[in-house]
Amino acid sequence: MNRAVIDHRGPEFQALGLALLENVKWVFGTRHPVFIYPSSATGAWEAALSNTLSPGDTVLAFQQGFFAERWARSAARLGLDVRLEPWDAAVGLDPDRVKEILVADTRREIRAVLVVHNETSTGVTTDLEAVGAAVRGSGHPALLMADTVSSLAATDVQHDAWGVDVTVSGSQKGLMLPPGLSFTAVSPRAMEARETSRLPCAYWDWGDMLESNRDGFFPYTPATTLLYGLAESLEMLREEGLPNVFARHARFAEATRWAVRGWGLEMVARSAGSFSNAVTAVRMPEGHDADAFRAVVLDRFDMSLGTGLGDLKGRVFRIGHLGDINELTLVGTLAGVEMGLALADVPHQGGGAAAAMDHLKETSSAGGGR
Ligand SMILES: *Cc1c(COP(=O)(O)O)cnc(C)c1O
Repeated sequence: MNRAVIDHRGPEFQALGLALLENVKWVFGTRHPVFIYPSSATGAWEAALSNTLSPGDTVLAFQQGFFAERWARSAARLGLDVRLEPWDAAVGLDPDRVKEILVADTRREIRAVLVVHNETSTGVTTDLEAVGAAVRGSGHPALLMADTVSSLAATDVQHDAWGVDVTVSGSQKGLMLPPGLSFTAVSPRAMEARETSRLPCAYWDWGDMLESNRDGFFPYTPATTLLYGLAESLEMLREEGLPNVFARHARFAEATRWAVRGWGLEMVARSAGSFSNAVTAVRMPEGHDADAFRAVVLDRFDMSLGTGLGDLKGRVFRIGHLGDINELTLVGTLAGVEMGLALADVPHQGGGAAAAMDHLKETSSAGGGR
């Protein structure tokens, strides 16, 4: 990424833009346009809503956790009527429940369903394929919008095959890039919804994007150096192969859970089918502050653990295990947690990191260390 910024209206950029806009589709599992914004992923939430909906439209969201509720809040701020359904955040969304709500909406008031694929605040993944099948199977015309910010390139995402209308993502998680790029993959149905949408939409307008992107350009100044990085990150994912990338994440997530169980601590995620490939949220024992523990780990070992977000503030710390990591970075992370638990006098059992090492050792493969 540390290269000279080139003229973003010139031929050299055009070649980069054309290749990237085509290549990025692969990681989203789509043949349709993927728009790339110079923004955080929160911007892409807004792009998804403001291109497709009209003031007062009803959108359905679930209390999956901090990010799902933030997206719902964005929708409310844009003037949409948000129906926020209660949900037990410790488990992934139940597709049958989604279907039931849509079937009961006989007046077809719900215009969009917002689903967070991997809720980063809880480490809980929803079976997006099953939710897609439920939405489509309900016969309801609502658009399905999925936040894949922390699932993309850590867990399989299939925009077309799963019937998702808008897939939102960002650069700084599984894509291994610094923050600063966001994405919306857009189905033909969502593109069609744009024709009748009446929410104000300027910066995020897909029409402008589509027109400029056709020639490899952007309607405004793109984040050129991040695009250099994106080209490289896609190349890295191609070299490893997406199925291998997902298997690596699943294995590291499993090793992390071995460590947590070894410490005698509890995860936020409750059911096996809901465990995240990307992040594990760990509950602090009663009477202990997760942020005080995190501060000890940062001070002693220069390692940042994720903080508890929203309601989970102080009650949870999060171990990230996504992106450009290998066995030894993971083991180092888990060792740092274990030493920190002891130094911060958090009640736990020793041997969690060793349990994770056992799992990694038993599941290692020839050439896996590359
Ligand atoms: C990180 C994250 C976001 C927010 O991304 P920003 O780039 O901070 O706007 C949204 N959703 C999920 C699931 C995330 O993990």
